[in-house]
Order: sequence, then C-alpha cells, then structure tokens
Amino acid sequence: MRMTRHHLARLAGLVLLGWTTLALAAANDEWTRPFPAVHIVGNLYAVGTYDLQSFLLTSDEGHILINTGLKDSTAQIRANIESLGFRLEDVKILLTMQAHFDHTAALAEIKSLTGAQMWATKKDARVLEDGGASDPHFGGNPVTAFAPVKVDRIIRQGDVITLGKTTLTVYEHPGHTEGSSSYGMTASEGGKTYNVLIANMGTINPGKRLFLNPTYPGCGRDFAETYAAQRAMNPDIWVAAHASQYGLHDKYKPGQSYSPETFVDPDGFHAAVEKLDQIFLRQVLAEQLEGEQS
Ligand SMILES: [Zn+2]
Repeated sequence: MRMTRHHLARLAGLVLLGWTTLALAAANDEWTRPFPAVHIVGNLYAVGTYDLQSFLLTSDEGHILINTGLKDSTAQIRANIESLGFRLEDVKILLTMQAHFDHTAALAEIKSLTGAQMWATKKDARVLEDGGASDPHFGGNPVTAFAPVKVDRIIRQGDVITLGKTTLTVYEHPGHTEGSSSYGMTASEGGKTYNVLIANMGTINPGKRLFLNPTYPGCGRDFAETYAAQRAMNPDIWVAAHASQYGLHDKYKPGQSYSPETFVDPDGFHAAVEKLDQIFLRQVLAEQLEGEQS
C-alpha cells in the first residue's frame, strides 16, 4: 500500500497518541501524588500535587487560583488551601498558564464550586472553551481532552489583574500553547522586595513542528519571541507549571520552615530559558536539514 499524505498524518496521530499514553503512565504518579501546600513568598502559595503546580494568591477580598491538575485534582487542591487556613470557596478568579489538560482539567469543576470567573488569553480561551478540541497539537486525542470551561474575560500582555491588595501583571509567552502566559508580581518581606515570576516555560512537546509544516502558523516564531522576552526578565523568585521545571523538590522539603529566601534563584531562571532555547535551536536545524533533503 502506498503511503499517502493522509495515511502519514494518521500514522503520526497514532504515534502521538501512543506517546501521550506512555508519557501519561510514566508521569501519572508524580502528577497525582499528593504534596503539602508550600508557602513560596508573600501571599503566593503552591497548592497543587507533587509535580502539577497550582498557585494560590490570597487577599482579604478573595483569592486567585492559577492552574489545576488532572480532573481528579480538586480534592487535593482544596485540602491544601484549607491546610493554609483559607477556603476554596473564596477563590474569585481562575487563571491558567497553558491550556493543556494536565493544568486545566479541574477548572470547570472548581468554577462551578466557587462561582469564580475564568480569565484567559484569547488563544487559550478558545481551547479552554472547547475542552482541548481546537488545540493544534493535542486536539482530537481523547487522552488529552478535558471538561470545557467558559471564559469570562480575555486578558492580554501588560494587563494588571487586581484583587484586594494582590496585583499580577500578565505576560503572553506563546509557543508551548498558542496562548501561554506568565504572571509577574512583587512581594515585600523583611524590608526586601522580591520580583516574582510565575513563568510558563517554552518546552516543546514531542512531535511539535516549528517552521517546517508548523503545528500552527507562527509556532516557531512564538517560541523564539518567548525565549527573548524571558531572557530580558530578571525575577528574583520564579516558579513554573511543573515542579520539575523550577526545581521545587531541590529547593524545598516538606516541613522546612518558611523563609522568603527559599526560592530566590535568578540564575536558575536564565539557565532554564537558555536550556530550552538550545533545544529549540537544535530542532530548527533538524527541520532545516529535513527541508533541504525533501
Ligand atoms: Zn503543557
């Protein structure tokens, strides 16, 4: 049988589905393993699982919750929030960093439990509202579909989100998803002010295409611009959507007493961005060679 373009696309889809299922099985333990809430700095707490990071920003007028985990993560997030003396029901604004199921699958449930508003960038809003169907990379894969969640407000680069005394600045860092975003804030403690970045890192999922038959138009350019933008940022403290990305478990062990210095790591942020940019450049070269050979 001659392989047509259609057959090849189908085969690629099956390989991707197989990879996703395998990766899920491997990651599953760390993605779902409970982990106690972590006080990062100021009013910022990590309230997710061992690896899938949800971030709580508290205020007297309600809280902001960034990310969930898989669809069964609500109970763990609730338990962590309550262990800090706060209530899930007081969450007023829900945000995401990237509209991928491992960070969004419990959003619809938490939204209905709390009545919170869902805010997202335009391109991630589309994917949130169709439960991942229009994701140009994972769309159509039942493993990565999630419960759709209605978006109440579109946020953009430079927007400042305010709730009580909490203010967060929105940074659009596309590539990992079309609408990926990071959030910046400052925390003042003990006479010191810390620049904090809740950073969406530009990791390239296996099978993603940058410039040659790109996963979506402008995909490669989005990644390049995100690395450049992040290289120009200088957070004292940074966290990310996966604990492994920012070294949570190297920096912190459960029971460790709180210090605002625990997560200070300006060099680590630049090193992480640099590492991802190197992987990107290798893939750009590989695609160039592939283009020359075809
Ligand atoms: Zn992702």
